[in-house]
Parts: sequence; structure tokens; C-alpha cells
Amino acid sequence: MSDCIFCKIISGKVPCAKVYEDQKVIAFLDIAPVNKGHVLVVPKIHTENLLDTPEPTLHALFSAIKKLAPAVQHGAEADGLNINSNNGSAAGQLVMHYHWHIIPRYSSDGLKHWPHHHYEDDMTAWQKKITDNIR
Ligand code: AMP
Ligand code: ZN
Repeated sequence: MSDCIFCKIISGKVPCAKVYEDQKVIAFLDIAPVNKGHVLVVPKIHTENLLDTPEPTLHALFSAIKKLAPAVQHGAEADGLNINSNNGSAAGQLVMHYHWHIIPRYSSDGLKHWPHHHYEDDMTAWQKKITDNIR
């Protein structure tokens, strides 16, 4: 996609600090890291999110994540990792080319997780809303 920053990185038009590449996937340092060593794992085909990404690409992404996660954890001497993907602008996705974040975390980094809510008597109804939509 011509105006996509990650497509430009994949085609070599925009530079990146590459840490990994295979036939289907590229990974590079996030330019504005949550913590230093924050890596983005990106499919070479342009899809927007998990929903429109073919399964072989998902397998390749997870295979790369499995290789990269210990490298990030050990290289950054991190205490843990957040491995996540924002799907849709409502979920905080800024770059509309599917990708995963591998973020080194430290016990002392002070970052806060999102708040939790509680179900009232509606947990079964919510369970059904999901199971009814599995295709
Ligand atoms: P998201 O909010 O999940 O879409 O995250 C997009 C991420 O891409 C952000 O963390 C940005 O810092 C990162 N990003 C945007 N442009 C570049 C770039 N040219 N090189 C590396 N990372 C980038
Ligand atoms: Zn793209």
C-alpha cells in the first residue's frame, strides 16, 4: 500500500533498525519505544489486523515472535515482556498495517496496566455473545 509507513519500510524506501527478517515477516525497533528494545513484528503483506490476515501469515508471525521474545527479554535484561497487538483505532492502533509489539518490562518501570471491571449477573449472557459468533 503506497501511503503505508510499514510497507515503505518493507520495500526499503524508509530505513529501519531491523532485528529479524524471513520470507513472510520483518521485525525492527519501534522508533518511539515504551522501553528501549521495544520490537515490532510485521507481516510483509499489507493487512490491517488479525481479522483480515491469512492463517499462514499468522503462523509465520507467531513463529517469529517465539524466536524474538527470548532475544528481547535477554538482550534488554528485562524482567518480563508485554507481547500485544492493537486491533482497530478504538484499541489504540495507529499504524493500520497489522503488527505485534514485543515490549521489555521491568519491575521498576512504573507503567500501569488498564483497569478491570466486574460482571454483575450477566456473565453467562456475555459468554453466549461470544460463543454464538464463533464461525
Ligand atoms: P500501534 O499503536 O499498535 O499502531 O503502534 C504503531 C507503532 O509504530 C508505534 O509504537 C510507533 O512508535 C511505531 N512506528 C511508527 N512509525 C515507525 C517507524 N517509521 N519506524 C519504527 N516504528 C514506527
Ligand atoms: Zn502496509
